[in-house]
Amino acid sequence: MPDATTEAQAQALPAERAERPTQGEKPLVRLEDVKVHFPIRRGLFARGVVKAVDGVSLQLARGETVALVGESGSGKTTLGRASLRLIEPTAGRVLFDGRDITHVPEARLKWFRRRAQAVFQDPYSSLNGTMTIEQIVEEPLIIHGVGTREERRARVLEALEAVRLRPPEEFLKKFPHQLSGGQRQRAAIARALVLDPEYVVADEPVSMVDASSRAEILLVLKERQEAAGTAILYITHDIATARHFAHRVGVMYLGHLVELGPSERVIENPLHPYTQALIAAVPEPDPTNRLRERPVIPGEPPSPAHTPKGCPFHPRCPKAMKGTCDVEGRTPQLKEHEPGHWVACYLY
Ligand code: SF4
Repeated sequence: MPDATTEAQAQALPAERAERPTQGEKPLVRLEDVKVHFPIRRGLFARGVVKAVDGVSLQLARGETVALVGESGSGKTTLGRASLRLIEPTAGRVLFDGRDITHVPEARLKWFRRRAQAVFQDPYSSLNGTMTIEQIVEEPLIIHGVGTREERRARVLEALEAVRLRPPEEFLKKFPHQLSGGQRQRAAIARALVLDPEYVVADEPVSMVDASSRAEILLVLKERQEAAGTAILYITHDIATARHFAHRVGVMYLGHLVELGPSERVIENPLHPYTQALIAAVPEPDPTNRLRERPVIPGEPPSPAHTPKGCPFHPRCPKAMKGTCDVEGRTPQLKEHEPGHWVACYLY
């Protein structure tokens, strides 16, 4: 049975209006009221539940980048994995190109695996160290039975060129440990892109590479998107890169999407107190050219196993209203405050 939150959310987010794609076409990826709950077990018995994602609706159009931002534990990585069906949602639906894949067994998802790919945070563990770069990038083509050996070699070279591992021939026989962190992540991106996917989840793709490689890696992804119309879900804790890289930004807190809208609107005119605090905490250059740290958000996010009653942000919110924001069973729902700009907060 749906809980009160779900029912209220369904009212606040009618399916046909929930996070419309920016491109005016039918969405490629559609998440409908997705929940991912993990039971906490001690021995044989369940001792509670972690609500990693708790009723999120979101959709991406072809050629659109949506950035998901939020602190650790906000549920953004879990939501990204659910959208790729690397995790089966507890409730809600995941649709890809109009097909419901929420509970389809893995053996029947090969068509989807070819069309949707992931780039993970850690280029050190995501590449098999015993394989050459050529073998790593070619492997998805072999798994999906694409091309002859010569055709696969040509596609590998093309993918390496596209991620600026140049000249590509020089990288074919190298092993991951012979590459820098930035080069390794670009090899991981080449592997993800070699199948020409329509949807890519890029989960903190630049957080473990040196600063000089970050802009180039994001540029590679952006070029790819513009050339091939790929939809990208860009998961990051870095709201500053989200502004430049994404068409829309979604802000997550404790498993909830609390704000969603065009990147410039969300960053220049943040509505939710949590988004305002996230942006205020971004370091910015001062006139002496040193990075100046702004104040961080007070307190730690509560555990998703013990979500506060009422608005999940209320214990940390400087604008919390007693008797409104802390009432059990009343979670603020996303509402469209201005065209395309949604916020879940009782201030609006
Ligand atoms: Fe703050 Fe209340 Fe808005 Fe939650 S609903 S963000 S506690 S003002």
